[in-house]
Amino acid sequence: MIIRLKNSVGKDEADKLGVELKAFVLKQNGSHILVTPNALKEVDSKYAALVDSSIPFADDIQLASKKFINGVREVNLGNNIKVGGTTNNTVVITGPCSVESREQIEQAAQLCVKLGVKILRAGAFKPRTSPYTFQGMGVEGLKLMAEMRDKYGLKIITEIRDSTHLTEIIEYADIIQVGAKAMYDHGILKGCAKSNKPVLLKRGFGSTVQEFVQAAEFILSGGNENVMLCERGIRTFETKTRFTLDLCGVAYLKEYTNLPVILDPSHAIGYAYGVADLTRACMAMGVDGLLVETHPNPAVAKSDASQQLNFEQFTNLYESLKPIAKAVGKNII
Ligand code: PEP
Ligand code: MN
Repeated sequence: MIIRLKNSVGKDEADKLGVELKAFVLKQNGSHILVTPNALKEVDSKYAALVDSSIPFADDIQLASKKFINGVREVNLGNNIKVGGTTNNTVVITGPCSVESREQIEQAAQLCVKLGVKILRAGAFKPRTSPYTFQGMGVEGLKLMAEMRDKYGLKIITEIRDSTHLTEIIEYADIIQVGAKAMYDHGILKGCAKSNKPVLLKRGFGSTVQEFVQAAEFILSGGNENVMLCERGIRTFETKTRFTLDLCGVAYLKEYTNLPVILDPSHAIGYAYGVADLTRACMAMGVDGLLVETHPNPAVAKSDASQQLNFEQFTNLYESLKPIAKAVGKNII
């Protein structure tokens, strides 16, 4: 249950009530709110003098629910790049899977500048399935990303793989990416909650939509309101493609949650041949953002080589999104 306390209730009193009700205590629009387990369906009358209003929930999708905020939260990605709220924006994020060298990441940064894409992506700590493959450049990669931000005025998004480099990621990234394999890592989620930087939370490929949104609740209930959900494909019985992009799940998220929804078709299909068509399908769903992997020479990429678009393919895709965005009332930023 989310209980909004009266404006007159101070922090100490709100905290005391939080302990009594086993609730998270947050401040929102000038008053304190308590987020209790959903088993609580009614506020005891002894608290009546302190309570302004309350919302019961059927499950633990609470802070992320449209029952709490009937709309989409606005998330500011910096430099006035905003998604959600009343913006109607679809933010495009692109760059390689991994940062591999200064030359490679700089070429990607220059592609962004040329097309007007404002957010550069690349992983420096890679959550690889095998220990014998490229694990990322680590902090050196973060520094190269930061260099691109400073040189080209881009915002950078990079992934946190585990809690050992939480501090570095929070320090360097403009947007923190929590990857599919890290979605259940509560150390990471709680660490992100303590930062006020925007977080792109990817759906675990074996997670239900319920579990996915509950992972977002860990960040929201810890005090960070800047959360975006990212659908990147789930594992099904199908083996011809890498994963299956769950657009039904996306429709659910749009209908029932108040968080911006970003789509990542690259990791979903796993093969470059389908990325452009899928991205256009996502655009047609009027989503808040698109994340597409690009590489100056995908054939030699150190990770996810088969799915990355070359710059010509991405440029053609980017141009083709414009009329679709217009048709569904979205602004590509
Ligand atoms: C990535 O974005 O490169 C990545 C590893 O994504 P995911 O966590 O969705 O697999
Ligand atoms: Mn990748």
